[in-house]
Amino acid sequence: MSVMRRVLLRSTGVAFLSVALSLGLAVTVVPAVGGVVDGNAWLMCVLCPLLIAWPASAWQLWQHEQLRVARAALVAAHEELQRAHDALAETARRDGLTGLLNRESLLAVVEQARSSSAGAWLLVADLDHFKAINDRYGHAVGDDVLTQVASRLSSTLGEGDAVGRLGGEEFAVLLIAADERHAADAAERLRAAVARTPILVEGDVRLTVTISVGGAAIDPALPVREAYTRADARLYEAKRAGRDRVVVSAAPEVEALATSS
Ligand code: GH3
Ligand code: MG
Ligand code: MG
Repeated sequence: MSVMRRVLLRSTGVAFLSVALSLGLAVTVVPAVGGVVDGNAWLMCVLCPLLIAWPASAWQLWQHEQLRVARAALVAAHEELQRAHDALAETARRDGLTGLLNRESLLAVVEQARSSSAGAWLLVADLDHFKAINDRYGHAVGDDVLTQVASRLSSTLGEGDAVGRLGGEEFAVLLIAADERHAADAAERLRAAVARTPILVEGDVRLTVTISVGGAAIDPALPVREAYTRADARLYEAKRAGRDRVVVSAAPEVEALATSS
């Protein structure tokens, strides 16, 4: 029903109710005080409510409808603003190229895990000889490789784990509720997910890309940067040991999970 029609119907109802009340008062109150309801009085009892109550209630109902429409528009605008705000906040948390969490957001998630979840581990993964890909195929292909590696890392994560791009060709993974065995397995799965099948770029070029991974347990009593420093040192042990491998142990010899290819 249109707003106009609804207003008209309701104000008509109010007007007729007013007429009925007016007539009711005329036949009860006037005789009670010794008066007589004659022809003119009957006319006034009908005309006054019709001429006053009808337009007055129509005006008020119309204003009420206008307010209702304005309020609905305001609620819709507020919801849209909230959605835009949420989308903006989500964009600000993400790395523009890969869509993974950016450095700040990932470190914030890691910081939260440090205090709230026992046994968290931090893995740091770096693409091997990535500069050579850029040099040979160009920066755009390099970007494509980064995006595809990011997608492989992210689809290899366990429930509750998180991955982010720390910058350049370096990524970090937060493993929650992990021990050293679990961390070694997870790091190996990430390594294998990148190395197992070549990455297809420019339609038909197959690039074999590998990553090296270092990992360290996150000590709830120490700042996150301690775990990052240890994981980073192990990453460079993996690089020195030949790349395409993982090191998550503090052993003096590099604990490398051998490459499959
Ligand atoms: P290593 O195995 O020792 O890690 O060697 P690498 O070549 O991977 O490492 P290096 O630090 O020598 O080079 C990293 C390169 O990554 C250099 C830089 O131009 C490139 N790079 C950093 N950020 C981006 C990016 O967003 N897109 C592209 N295409 N390249 C990037
Ligand atoms: Mg590298
Ligand atoms: Mg690097």
